[in-house]
Amino acid sequence: MVNDRVYLEPPDNEDAAVYKCEHCGNFIFEGDEYFEITGETLCEHCLHFLYSKFAQAPEEPEEY
Ligand SMILES: [Zn+2]
Repeated sequence: MVNDRVYLEPPDNEDAAVYKCEHCGNFIFEGDEYFEITGETLCEHCLHFLYSKFAQAPEEPEEY
């Protein structure tokens, strides 16, 4: 649910938000690390949430 009132009170932060994560909506501030994946601006949290995987050994191929 979108609530416009969120924008009425900017955070007490000298840094201005430069970007907004297109996945979770978090602001990305100047100096923050962010990621552009296939044209989407993502914060670090979402990058890991969406794209990181745990390495798993492949299942043993069936032998005949
Ligand atoms: Zn995000």
